[in-house]
Amino acid sequence: MKEDFYDILGVSKNASDSEIKKAYRKMALKYHPDKNPDDKEAEEKFKKAAEAYEVLSNPDKKARYDQYGHQAFDGAGGFGGGGMNMDDIFSQFGDIFGGAFGGGGFSGFGGGGRQRVAKGSNLRIRVKLTIEEIANGVEKKIKVKRKVQAPGTTYKTCSTCNGSGQVTRITNTILGRMQTASPCQTCGGAGQTIDKKPDGADANGLMVSEETVTVKIPAGVVDGMQLKVTGKGNDAPGNGIAGDLLVAILEQEHPTLKREGDNLHYDLYVSVPDAVLGTSKEIDTVSGKVRIKVEAGVQSGKILRLRGKGIPSINGYGKGDLLVHVNVWTPKTLNKKQKEFFESMKEDEHFAPKPESSDKSFFEKVKDMFS
Ligand SMILES: [Zn+2]
Repeated sequence: MKEDFYDILGVSKNASDSEIKKAYRKMALKYHPDKNPDDKEAEEKFKKAAEAYEVLSNPDKKARYDQYGHQAFDGAGGFGGGGMNMDDIFSQFGDIFGGAFGGGGFSGFGGGGRQRVAKGSNLRIRVKLTIEEIANGVEKKIKVKRKVQAPGTTYKTCSTCNGSGQVTRITNTILGRMQTASPCQTCGGAGQTIDKKPDGADANGLMVSEETVTVKIPAGVVDGMQLKVTGKGNDAPGNGIAGDLLVAILEQEHPTLKREGDNLHYDLYVSVPDAVLGTSKEIDTVSGKVRIKVEAGVQSGKILRLRGKGIPSINGYGKGDLLVHVNVWTPKTLNKKQKEFFESMKEDEHFAPKPESSDKSFFEKVKDMFS
C-alpha cells in the first residue's frame, strides 16, 4: 500500500496551502541529496516528499487525490506509475525555493554527477470512453503524429560541452557552496549536435510521422485520469530517449446509467398497476440489457441492488454495484372511469399508508448507502 501523501509531509488533511508548502520545504532541505551524499534512504524520502508536494500543491490534483486516493494517479495495466524523476523534482524547485538550487537545473549527486539524457517532449491526447468501455477495459488504437529521428541524420560531439551535455558551475546557496550543473545551451543537454540531416528534417533532425499506437486501458479508469505510454512521445535528437504519450481519460455520459465511484445508478419507472401487481422490466447494464423482477407492492424509492454489476475497482479490489431506483409513475390526468375507480378507493382502509420498519425513508437509505 502506498503511503498517504499527507502523512509523508506530516500535515493534516485540512492543512492550508502555506502549511503544505512549509512542510515540504522543511523536508526537502533535510533530505536534499546534496546534504546527504550517498544516502539512499534520504534520497527516497526526498523523492516521496516531492511526489506528495507535486500533488498536494496543485488544486486539481489535490481534489482528485482527496476523492480517489492514489488510484487517481497510479498507472495500471502496464502503464508507468506516477513517480517523479529527479529532473521533475528539481524543476519544481523554481517556484518554491526561488532558484536556491540552481533554478531548473539539476544538482550533481555524491560528487560524481549524472549524465543528463535528453528526453523528447511528451505528447498529450484525450480519449473518450463509454461507461461500457470503462467497465470492461478496452484497447484503443490511436493515431498520433510524433516527431521521430529522420533517417540519415548524423551527429557529432558537441564542442561546447565536449559531449557531457552539461556545464558545471559553483554557486552560493542557502545550503552553502554547491556545485550545480545545468544543461549545455548549445546541444540542449544531448552532448551531440547535428552533422548532416536529410531534407524535410527540422533543426533537431526530426520529422513528423503518423503512427498508430495501441493503448491498453484497464477497467475502472476515472474521468481526468492520465495514463502514460512510455516512449511514444516525440523522439529526442541524437542519443536521447523518446518522450511519453500521455493519455487523458474523458468519460462520456451514458443516457441511463450514472456513475458514482465504482457504483452505477439507474432510474426505473413503473406504472401504478405494475407497482401494485408486480412486473418484470428490462434495464441497461454495462454488459447489455438485463430483465429484472419487480415484486408486487413495490414502494416508490426502493433501491434494488445488483451486486457486482457496477465498475471494477481500478486497484483490482472487487466491483461496484448497480443500484436500480424504483420510481412509481403517477398519471397527471385520468379519464372518467379511472377517476371513479380511484375515488372509490379513497375511503378504502387498505390503501392507507402503513410503513413498516423495513420501509426506510429515502434519507435513511441514502445514509446507509454511504456508511
Ligand atoms: Zn553541448
